[in-house]
Amino acid sequence: MQASILIVYTGGTIGMVQNSKSGLLKPFDVENIMAQIPQLNSINAKIEAVSTRAPKDSANMRPSDWQEIGQLLFDNYEKYSGFVVLHGTDTMAYATAALSFMFKNLSKPIIFTGSQLPIGHTRTDALENVITAIEIALLQKNNAALINEVCLYFGNKLFRGNCVTKISSQNFNAFDSPNLPPLIESNMDLEINYSLLQVSSVNKLSFNPALSEEVFVYKMHPGITEKQFSQICSAVKFNVLILETYGSGTLFNNDWLVTALSKLRKKGVEIINISQCTYGSVSALYEVSKYMANLGVISGKGLTLEAAIAKSMCLMASETTKMNFKTLFITDLAGELS
Ligand code: ASP
Repeated sequence: MQASILIVYTGGTIGMVQNSKSGLLKPFDVENIMAQIPQLNSINAKIEAVSTRAPKDSANMRPSDWQEIGQLLFDNYEKYSGFVVLHGTDTMAYATAALSFMFKNLSKPIIFTGSQLPIGHTRTDALENVITAIEIALLQKNNAALINEVCLYFGNKLFRGNCVTKISSQNFNAFDSPNLPPLIESNMDLEINYSLLQVSSVNKLSFNPALSEEVFVYKMHPGITEKQFSQICSAVKFNVLILETYGSGTLFNNDWLVTALSKLRKKGVEIINISQCTYGSVSALYEVSKYMANLGVISGKGLTLEAAIAKSMCLMASETTKMNFKTLFITDLAGELS
């Protein structure tokens, strides 16, 4: 059977054109993108393209958009050998994390990419990103797809979708995967890190798009007052509070904070400890933060914020996973803790 790729355009700079009046960039259409990649004709595969209902700047993406993208991929899963999703860079890592938890037992690649400059720009980075993402989606080993997971390809590197984060608004190397090396680096050859790749599952594909939006992130900083924190906690409805803490997961131990977190725990709120540091992991090194473990605060280990949010949204969305939230959160579900 001839290899085939479905390109899914969801918006983002890659397909944007300048508004003639305001000069501002806004999403255009997928035919325009395809017409600007003549190299597609020399790739030995059937390549087709669709777009989501309303391609948008990824700043406007919500969990319902990830559900739409996931459904589109699921509906087309049997018809193509791989998928390349064109997405805005600003929230691409949130989307890849979410999709990585929605799909189980993938045996085909879902590769997200985009660009810093629109595809019509003379110096665009879109061509390399899209063409190599397609080439990677077509890679095979023993007559089966080499990549069997949700990934993000950008700036010559293929990253696991739930380990990646946007690190630059300017650089063509806009993404990094702080706690996991790239799965593939594209130089003259594609340098494949075979030991990191997920193996294809023999089990039936499952797709569960349910997401809970009752997840809230709070970035801790020196100077937060009791009043600010308690007002936020009483005004916002959440089942999961992700606290962005310092260094290796440390946080001040004022009585008021210990009491406030303890109250949240008694109300059944799950609290997750994620470090503000890009590299490294939450660990139980310091006396000052011992109280968090005593309160049942969950260590986010080396998860990216994007992965912590997406994983929480998925686990909170069904009664059974909600009941086993802590056990499942600290379990590696989709390579996010590797
Ligand atoms: N604002 C754009 C977006 O995320 C940026 C980009 O695509 O690079 O849709």
